[in-house]
Amino acid sequence: MIYCDHNATSPLRPEVRDAMAACLNGDYGNPSSVHRWGARARLAVEEARARVAELVGAVPAEIVFTSGGTESIALAIHGVLARHPGGAAVTATVEHAAVLAPLARWARQGRRVTVVPVGSDGRVAVDEVAAACGPGTALVSIGWANNEVGTVQPIAAIAEAVRAAGAVLHVDAVQAAGKIPVTAAAADLVSMSAHKLGGPPGVGALVVRGGIAIEPLLLGGGQERERRAGTENVPGIVGFGVACRLAAREIGAFGEFCVALRDRLWAGLAAAIPGVRRNGPLQGAGLPNTLNVSFDGVRGEALVAALDLEGIAVSSGSACAAGAGEPSHVLIAMGRSAESARDGVRFSFGRGNSLGDVDRLVAATAAAVARMRAAAGGYA
Ligand code: PLP
Repeated sequence: MIYCDHNATSPLRPEVRDAMAACLNGDYGNPSSVHRWGARARLAVEEARARVAELVGAVPAEIVFTSGGTESIALAIHGVLARHPGGAAVTATVEHAAVLAPLARWARQGRRVTVVPVGSDGRVAVDEVAAACGPGTALVSIGWANNEVGTVQPIAAIAEAVRAAGAVLHVDAVQAAGKIPVTAAAADLVSMSAHKLGGPPGVGALVVRGGIAIEPLLLGGGQERERRAGTENVPGIVGFGVACRLAAREIGAFGEFCVALRDRLWAGLAAAIPGVRRNGPLQGAGLPNTLNVSFDGVRGEALVAALDLEGIAVSSGSACAAGAGEPSHVLIAMGRSAESARDGVRFSFGRGNSLGDVDRLVAATAAAVARMRAAAGGYA
């Protein structure tokens, strides 16, 4: 079995599982309780908060724990727009649905939402973002790295443009955190998700940089410094903390390891299969673990199913949209036709993959593509 779908979710790391098991089996109370059971839980949450903060160079008080990337993003968008009556927003065509859908709702409710285009490599042009930041712009939301094709956006330059416009910058770093260096100082709000970096699903964080006031999405108890009500998911948060500590230690070596796998895969596919095209950033750029390719005449979903029969997990489009039979909005934004935007296949590496996996991936993909092309009447 080869699991090559780490951008959808990356398996729980053993150290994370052990820490979570200890927490689930231990005498932990509600972190808000004053007795020792509560204090133990509070300590565990605060230790995790420090570890999550450290991964992105934030201070612990800036970390708001949430139920995952989607909630972090929702909190960022609601948090800013609800505090700025009439304020406009700017985002990009390639953003995750967790960004585009809430902003579409704000647009339906009358807010101006400008969606800036990207080039054929998936990158936004900084001057387009700057031009979109007209008077009254309250929020700009741009992803650090794209989940489907791995394009990394020029966040530092975007931040400068957003600052000059006096708006708040939210960066969806769900796919970047733990894979490439992410510095929270580059933005005002940064979204993260534990299950993309070897932590558990259902827990994430929004980094709220000092001085940025947000309107809470969930109201009730005073948890998370009044920014997110609800009893904390203590085992999940503990697991997230351990995953972040490991990721911080390993990020350099992990990146190099992934680049070696990704580049070997591209070289192997390009050599073995005619009519293969790379989608997204050019060789050497982009997320180190992500390769998105199309094979002429081969439908992405069909190839994903064929590889699954061989015990190989890859994906077409994003996990959330996959199976819907819809063309990828990311590939369409990058200039592909609706037809060819159905053909992207994403290989995303992570811990547990090896160079041997890459060679098997190439062989299995070449065989599946040849079979599918032959069944469709051959490939000229
Ligand atoms: N943003 C990006 C770029 C993602 O890839 C994902 C998950 O696929 C999300 C947000 C949503 O994160 P979560 O699954 O933790 O809600």
